[in-house]
Amino acid sequence: MISYSQTPIQEIESPFLTEAGVRLLVKREDLNHPEVSGNKWWKLKYNLEQANEEGQDTLLTFGGAYSNHLYAVAAAASALGMKSIGIVRGEETLPLNSTLRFVKTRGMEIHYVSRQAYREKQNANFLHELEEKFGRFYMLPEGGTNALAVKGCLEFSMQLVAETEFDTLCLPVGTGGTMAGMVAGLKQHQQAIGISVLKHGEFLNEEVKRWLTADASNWRIETGFDFGGYAKSNRELLDFIRMTQEQHNLPLDQVYTAKTLFGIYELIRAGKIRRSSVVMMLHTGGLQGALAE
Ligand SMILES: *Cc1c(COP(=O)(O)O)cnc(C)c1O
Repeated sequence: MISYSQTPIQEIESPFLTEAGVRLLVKREDLNHPEVSGNKWWKLKYNLEQANEEGQDTLLTFGGAYSNHLYAVAAAASALGMKSIGIVRGEETLPLNSTLRFVKTRGMEIHYVSRQAYREKQNANFLHELEEKFGRFYMLPEGGTNALAVKGCLEFSMQLVAETEFDTLCLPVGTGGTMAGMVAGLKQHQQAIGISVLKHGEFLNEEVKRWLTADASNWRIETGFDFGGYAKSNRELLDFIRMTQEQHNLPLDQVYTAKTLFGIYELIRAGKIRRSSVVMMLHTGGLQGALAE
């Protein structure tokens, strides 16, 4: 098992929130582990148990060059004395960025594949080739979303619900795995709003549904806050990150959490979050990528 630290809930106070009559809390899950952090800790929890039960000694997964998932898998494998292999999209560019430098220090073997091959990564032939090349491994999909990842997020959601009262949970959505687990753990009177970090994120509704085992209607995806798409940002978002750090001592990353908090403010402004409600933002981590170069 990877170690876990209990994380605080931070209240954000500002005249804007007071005027809107909204209490804003942030679950600082970014602080749960220095390297396997945020939602990635929970997404890996039951997968690591499963790999262990299967007697696997190697984790293999996929990601882009700045992937938080790749980072977490390399750190988890190293902490557990396992090997790790990262299949990375595109060609090697030197000098390596800080994410790839980190995964190498944790012993991850990086294997670059063309964008074309990468697109076919779930296909049986490609997986077979990987097995011939690397031997037996426990495979984690890109972004780490599978049924065991959703199970881990459900466990976390139930803990959070028991820990404190809130009305609306807001969190960033990449693949939808975290969102599905979180929704499954909510009480009926609570709702979840997922902020899509992808352009054209409407399809994420289907992705979340795919991972939900029971019907639920107390959730929705908001799509206006992607700033041009995955990992895209602009001056406004970067200024927002700096101001949030200065005014509230809350660190955010530009890929996931800054878009989420920005979206929360906009939804409040637009009257899409009820007055006198308590909003819980889930800080999913991702700070390794915040200043990545
Ligand atoms: C991976 C990641 C997400 C997205 O989680 P999904 O389960 O893929 O939706 C959100 N926030 C951070 C910081 C992440 O690293």
